[in-house]
Parts: sequence; C-alpha cells; structure tokens
Amino acid sequence: MILFKQVEPLQQALDKFRQEGRSIGFVPTMGALHQGHLSLLEAARKENETVICSIFVNPTQFNDPSDFEKYPITLEKDIELLIQSNTNLLFLPYVSEIYPNGTGNLPNYSIGFLETILEGKYRPGHFQGVCQVMHRLLEIVKADNLYMGQKDYQQCMVVKRLLELTRIPTRLHTCPTLRETDGLAMSSRNTRLLPAQRAQAVTISQVLKEICVTLQPGLTSLLLQAAEQKLEKAGFKVDYVALANADNLDLLDHWDGQQPVVALAAAYLDEVRLIDNMLIQSGK
Ligand code: AMP
Repeated sequence: MILFKQVEPLQQALDKFRQEGRSIGFVPTMGALHQGHLSLLEAARKENETVICSIFVNPTQFNDPSDFEKYPITLEKDIELLIQSNTNLLFLPYVSEIYPNGTGNLPNYSIGFLETILEGKYRPGHFQGVCQVMHRLLEIVKADNLYMGQKDYQQCMVVKRLLELTRIPTRLHTCPTLRETDGLAMSSRNTRLLPAQRAQAVTISQVLKEICVTLQPGLTSLLLQAAEQKLEKAGFKVDYVALANADNLDLLDHWDGQQPVVALAAAYLDEVRLIDNMLIQSGK
C-alpha cells in the first residue's frame, strides 16, 4: 500500500493506474476502522483493480466541537488493517490539502429537504460539510466506483444528490450495515461507550427490529412513541425515531402498506450519539 498526504502525488499515481486501464474503487472514511469499513473495502476489491481508502476527520461536518475533538483516532491499527485488506492506496490528507483556501468560504449545495429532516435537523450544517468534503474528494480521486454504508442512510442520499448536482460520473454503491453479534451496528463511536453503556446500546437496533416486525398499514405514531420510550428507559436521550419512504426519505406518519420503508433512529448515551436504520420489506 502506498500512503499519500498530498493531492498532487496521489493524482499522479491514480493517473498511472488509469492509463493501465485499471478501474478505481474508492472508500472514504474518518478512520478508527472496523469490520464495517472493511466490508466496503472488500466490495471495492471485488469490483475494481485499484482500491483507494481515504482517512480524513472532516472538521466542517461536525456541528458539535466536542464530538470532533473526541473522535477516535487509531491510525497505526488502521494502516495495518488496510494492508491486510489489500488496499492499494491510502489518502491521509492534511486539512490544507482538502481546503486550500480555508473553510471560511465553502460552497453551499442545494440538497433540498434532506438538509432539514432527521440528521439534518439535529445536526445543522452537517450535510453541507459532508458535501464539501465529498465534492473535493470525488474531484481529487475521480473514482469509477464509490462505496458507502447504508448505516448512514441519509448520507448516502445526500451523496447521490451531490453526484447528480456536480455531474461527477462516479457510481455510488450502498453497502449493507455490519453489526456486532448482539445486533449493534458497528461504528467508530462505539469505542467511546463505557461497558455498561455498551450493554444498553443494543436497544437501538432492538427497537428498530421491533418496528420492522410489527409495522402495519395505518398511523405510525404509537409504534414510534413506544420505541422512543423503550430507548429512554435504557438510558438514551432520543433525537428521533422515525419511519420514512426508503426511496426519497419522505417522513411517514401513515403507512399505506405498499411504500418501501426505512426505520431510522438517533439517540445519545451520555455524550455519545448513535444512529442506526433498518429497511422494511415493501408490501408487508
Ligand atoms: P465513517 O468513518 O464513520 O465516516 O464511515 C465511513 C464509511 O463506512 C461510511 O460510508 C459509512 O456509512 C460506512 N460504515 C460505517 N459503519 C458501517 C457499518 N457498520 N457497516 C457498513 N458500513 C459502515
């Protein structure tokens, strides 16, 4: 694996691969890698001759400064895992490589209502930050294929919109969420949980599973309230538990029994914020 910290030499290396006719699969991350990240790299490995991973804890997507400061960093272990997974290139940029003109005057992206619901509502500015970093990374890497996790469902929708807006021809592949054996979605933030919190954390996937199993056509509010109460009883401070149309993320307070549905939740255990989602089969 070759490690690059600067754009120019990285692009020279990528150009060389492209000239050899090798397709490029890209997995952007913020590091503290776990099996979920590795599953994206595996998908990229299967479908591309060259695999590039980036590790960049993007300051512009953190609406909460303490979340940014406390974001876990495990660089040496990450590099080992990337070598084991046959990643060809690691891009580990300095902030100045991503934002050469600083972060003060970055563009605004028209991502519509995705910016004001769910994660957008509770993390103001977050998705603009995601667009800013992803636009820059996509322009640098010019990948054929991009691999992102369903774990960040709304983020995948935002990046899909970004690809449309910018007409960047990279193809987005959304990969399934990897879970711990008890069902907790793998996340870099899980390492910040104390043992007692880790035991409670699984409740978030349990309530989503219950929603998936019990959802019936009609009003959804009682089901969502019950899920919220169960999370609160387990010690969570809940941002939202919601049902949305899986295709466009329109929030559903009523399900017609046919729409494809995704159940989503975000909640805090102390100051660690966890998110998760599950798709429900349509026509159930
Ligand atoms: P992050 O490092 O949290 O920015 O995540 C980098 C990529 O890994 C994003 O596309 C995430 O959606 C994806 N990812 C995070 N957790 C998981 C997981 N448990 N399973 C699959 N993909 C994941």
